Parts: sequence; structure tokens; C-alpha cells
Amino acid sequence: MLDQAQRILKDVFGYDAFRGNQGAIIERVGSGGDALVLMPTGGGKSLCYQVPALLREGLAVVVSPLIALMDDQVATLDELGVSAVALNSTLSADEQREIAERIRRNEIKMLYLAPERLVQPRMLAFLQRLEIALFAIDEAHCVSQWGHDFRPEYMQLGQLAELFPGVPRIALTATADKRTREEIVQRLHLENAERFLSSFDRPNIFYRIVPKEQPRKQLLGFLAERRGDAGIVYCMSRKKVDDLAAFLSEQGFPALPYHAGLPNELRAYHQKRFLNEEGLIMVATIAFGMGIDKPNVRFVAHLDLPKSLEAYYQETGRAGRDGLPADAWMAYGLQDVIFLKQMLNNSEGDERHKRVEQHKLDAMLALCEETRCRRQTLLAYFDEELPNPCGHCDNCVDGVQTWNATEPARQALSAIYRSGQRYGVGHLVDILLGRDNDKVRGLGHQHLSVFGMGKALAEAEWRSLFRQLVARGLADVDLDGFGGLRLSDSCRPLLRGEVSLELRRDLTSKAPKPAASAASQLVRSEERETWEALRTLRRKLAEEHGVPPYVIFPDATLLEMLRSQPASLSDMATISGVGARKLERYGQAFLEVLQGSVEVAKSPADIRHELITLARAGMTPAQIARQLDCSEKNVYAMLAEAIGLQQLSLEQALDLPEDLLGEIQEAFLDGEGELPPVSAVAEQFAGRVPEQVLYCVRAALQVEFEL
Ligand code: ADP
Ligand code: ZN
Repeated sequence: MLDQAQRILKDVFGYDAFRGNQGAIIERVGSGGDALVLMPTGGGKSLCYQVPALLREGLAVVVSPLIALMDDQVATLDELGVSAVALNSTLSADEQREIAERIRRNEIKMLYLAPERLVQPRMLAFLQRLEIALFAIDEAHCVSQWGHDFRPEYMQLGQLAELFPGVPRIALTATADKRTREEIVQRLHLENAERFLSSFDRPNIFYRIVPKEQPRKQLLGFLAERRGDAGIVYCMSRKKVDDLAAFLSEQGFPALPYHAGLPNELRAYHQKRFLNEEGLIMVATIAFGMGIDKPNVRFVAHLDLPKSLEAYYQETGRAGRDGLPADAWMAYGLQDVIFLKQMLNNSEGDERHKRVEQHKLDAMLALCEETRCRRQTLLAYFDEELPNPCGHCDNCVDGVQTWNATEPARQALSAIYRSGQRYGVGHLVDILLGRDNDKVRGLGHQHLSVFGMGKALAEAEWRSLFRQLVARGLADVDLDGFGGLRLSDSCRPLLRGEVSLELRRDLTSKAPKPAASAASQLVRSEERETWEALRTLRRKLAEEHGVPPYVIFPDATLLEMLRSQPASLSDMATISGVGARKLERYGQAFLEVLQGSVEVAKSPADIRHELITLARAGMTPAQIARQLDCSEKNVYAMLAEAIGLQQLSLEQALDLPEDLLGEIQEAFLDGEGELPPVSAVAEQFAGRVPEQVLYCVRAALQVEFEL
């Protein structure tokens, strides 16, 4: 059977070898056994049921919780020449009937549906009359009440065991912990399932955590080496998301906001753009994530601290699903710690729950202040031992200096204690440095014995020290909500001089710049041009087929084309990711690009995308027209369209004198109700501004007043 599986892997999917446990899992399910598969994101779970589905007779039924994911999978299979459909509530009754007919005629190999739909009595009865190849239950952790994605509909999937004896079932998840695992087995009746546990390491992700100084500036520095890459930036609050997205766009990094406060359609539209376009940055709250299968997310950046390592692992895990180099980057500071501790203190819930949350936060903080390999710490938390330091995180690559902070820590704790355990770090540092300011004087703190005792350290060093004291639980954050510090019980041994304290020395921005991480070196500069041509062709094909670019070919496949320069279709066939169907459909077109025989014309979407980027970067319409090699008139028309879609503001698009702008706006707003057409005001401005400008202003007014 493994031979046959291997053939399917090559012919249909275009891959040469199974990864990790894939082969064993496929053998198990292909021969009718049940399986429980735990594999990290990007590990290749889909093939674990798609290959057995093709090996076995009958219809394969795949349960998946999200419509977006289903559509993505169906589009991908479609491109591979495998007949798959998703049944979901967006289909009309007629369309559903037609699908049922095609299933009866054996024209469909894979059926994707949501759990609540599968367990409807009519659906179950329908399926019982058919030959079923297997059931695949994706995101199986949704059955666990303990986990974070509990979906009650999943509970009912247990009945499949009884209703379909003899049909193999495979449950898959990227959630690792033991408790969730046991719940899946019990609730889905998978007692006889063979368990396949993979390592949860994501070797292609480079982890870096930096002390937060000027977060926006630091982020720009990080992004500068990743121009043109798609990525996600996580922030805590909606306002911060909105502000940062606007800021990044202004700085020439096209970015979109995503949070629960945006209207549904706009959110969906941003998500779609993120999937379909390249090089977009999504600035998001944690509302963004589940259901993002985009394989070529090159980085995930955190500007605020996640609440737990589970969250951190999951969020950073959205980078680099395609196995190519990717970055997880975080800026973290004392304010994060204070904020999260306060949230925890003020949260509802019983003491036990709070203790669990506190424990999770402590683990997160420990990772931030870790002086050894980050990956070892991260994996150890998930009960996995990495025998050696990874060599692929900031601590491994840059090395960490530690210093004996016993004495300064005692001074800091003493400053907290003697000033009455209610002041924030700013004031405490003033005391230690002996700053004779109004606040110090007003409180009489210049008389404290610790006043001016800490001049041996710089302000930044004191701040770093306080942060680490709080992170290690040696000092607590006050409950009043003003960020005051107080002593915790665990600092007594340190105060009494019974233990010593080693702390991390922060790399300040003055320190030599750490080596650029691997992701920025994906494509060398001399390869850029061909790489862009390949991407442009891919984007064009994707548009024609109505699918995201990565469904045509993943980046890894494009990269291999670039490196191995196939000269014929048979060379092309050996490239990983080029199966029979895709070779036939696209092989020739990509060969021609590689041979440089065709200039790939830019698609309208490319041009629009570039236009927006250039306008945001501050170019005038005339400059943009030159850059894009099209007429100015065309540029204006596209600008007006982009304004109407809220992709650009009027200020980004045009640089009009304020009084002239006011005059035009007034002309439009003169009447009651509807905006007059451009033709009605054109005469008034004839000879003063190009008519196209009026279209832009009108589009902006339309957005502003929702006319
Ligand atoms: P998961 O669902 O576990 O996150 P996917 O099934 O989406 O992962 O696979 C991640 C990527 O790896 C996809 O682009 C997929 O085509 C690719 N992939 C999976 N298995 C293999 C393999 N054996 N060889 C090469 N690429 C693979
Ligand atoms: Zn490491």
C-alpha cells in the first residue's frame, strides 16, 4: 500500500517523500484503522487524510469548523484535479440538491462539512446509504471543554463510531496537551485509535524577544529587512490596532487593521485581501487567527505580551506554515507585565482559576527573561525535551550576558519598602538615582536612606532590573491599578542575603546590531527580478482561477523553480509541489518566465496594489503615473476607486491646498441629500483643477457621510 500511497503523493500532490509520521498514518488509515494525529501547524496534516481518501473506495467525509478553511481546501484540491466540495449554509437548496446528486453518482471524492451539518439525522441517513472511505475530524481539540476553542457541536461526533462501524476515523489537531488529548479520545470514541505524536518544534521559525524601548521604531527596524513579506502584528487593544495600521501604511508598509470592533464586511474584506495579496501586513488583535491557513506568512510580531505560552505558541505558529524560514518577534516591557498582572487581579472567577492563569502568565514571563535557548524553554513547557540548544533563536545566536544583580536588587526592594510600597518604577528610579525633583521633595523622599544609593547604574538598567524583579515575582504589582510596586513574600530570602540573583543584561539599541534572521535572506538580490516575475505570473493565474496565489503553487515550489532553473517540462515535473495536473496546466507558462521569453504583464490587481503603496508612501499622481507607466487620468480613476473602498484617505491620494479643498467640498455639499454628480460642479473649477480630482474628493465625501 505504501507504494501506492507514494505514487499518489508524487502524481497528485507532486511531492517526493512523506514527512515525519505521514507515511505511517496513511498506512494505518488507508488499511481501515482509526488514528489520532497530533502535529504542529504546518506539519502536513491535510495529506494524512487526503491520501487515504484517494487510496480507498468511496466518499471521504471531512469535518471542519470553519467555512473559510473548507473553501481553501476545496480550492486547493480542485487545482490538483481532485473532486471535492464543501457543503455549507451559503449554498442554495438547489445547489445542495445538485451536490447530493453528484455524490450519489460517485463523482465526488471528498466532502467537507461543518459538524452541526454532519450530525443532522437526514445527513447521517444519506451518508449511511453510501460507501464511506473515511471520516476525518479536523481541529479535533474543538471537542475539549478544557481547551480554548470548544464547540458543542463536536460532542455529537462520537456517534459516528456506532453508526459507521468499520469506517476508519482520523482525528487531527495541533493542540498538544495531554488533557485535551484524553478528552478527544473519550468524546470521539477513539479508544482503538493509534496515536501519532509529532514533535511540536517549528524548526523554521526564528524566535526573538527584545526589551521594549520605542516599540514603533523597533518594529520599523524589524520590518525594514522584510519589505514585501506578508506578516501579522498582534496588539492588545482595538485602538492600538487602528493607529498602528495607519502608521505602518504611512511609513510605506501596506497594512490593514483587524479586530472585533470593525463591521463584519470590512473584517471579511481585510481577511480576504490578506490571503489574496502578497506583502500585506495584518495588524490585529487576537480576534484574528483561527482559520488563517495562509502558508506564506513570513513573520508574526507581538507588540504586546500574550497571556500564556499556549497563546504565544499558537500565534507565532501562524508564521511559516510552508516550512520556509519565518520569524517570531516580540517587544516586551515592564508595562506589559504590569498590565497583564492587573488584568488578572481584576478578573472575575474563582481563586483556583486565577491561580492557573497566574501560573500561565509566569511561564510566559519566564520565556521573556530566559537566558538559555528559547526553543528549549518553549518546548519543555509542552513536555518535550530538546536535548541541545537550538542555534536558531536570539539567545543561541547572540548569546546572553548575565550579571550578578544581588546588591542592586536589594537596593531596589529597599526603595520600594521605604517609600511605602505604593509608587511606580519612575519614582523609584528617581529615588535610587538621587533626583531632587518636586515629587521627591514633596514626599520627603530625599531623606530616605536609599536616596541616591543607585548611581552606579543607569536609568535603563534600573528599569530592566525592576522589570525582571516583577517578572520573577520578587516584587508585585499593586492592586490599585496605578502600577505601584510592593514586596512579595518570595523576596525575603534575597533581602536577608540568603540567595543571590543573576539577571539578564538587556541588549540596548546601542549594542551591535544582531545578525539579520534567515527569513530576510529567502531571495538573494540577484534573484529578485525573476522571483518577482514568477510571483506576478502566479498572481495572474490565481486571479483567473479565483483562488489565493499559494493555491496555484506554494512559495517553496516557486523558490525551487528559481534555484533549479528547469529547462523542460520533464525537469519541471521533478520539482516538489508540481503534480501531474499542475504541470499540465501551468508548467509551460512558468517555464517561459524562467527562460525570460515573456514579460509578464502586470494584472490590474497588481497595479492597484502598487498604486496604493506608492500613494501611501507620499507620491503625487504624476509621479505614480510615471512609475506605473500609465496615464495620469488612469491614476486618478484608480485613486478615486481606492478612496471609495477606504484603502486610501484623500490626504494620502492628493496634496490639495486646504482652501481649494474646502471650496470643492462645499460645492458638493451645497444641496440637500444626495451628492451631485461631478458634472454638476465641474464647470465651477474648470481650468483650476483637473476634473479627475473632483472624482477623488467626491469619493471621499461619500465615504465620510456614508452617502
Ligand atoms: P497543517 O494542516 O498541519 O497545518 P498542511 O496540511 O496545511 O499543514 O501542510 C502545510 C504545507 O506543507 C502545505 O503547503 C503542504 O502542501 C506542505 N506539505 C505537506 N506534506 C508535505 C510533504 N510530504 N512534502 C512536501 N510538502 C508537504
Ligand atoms: Zn535556541
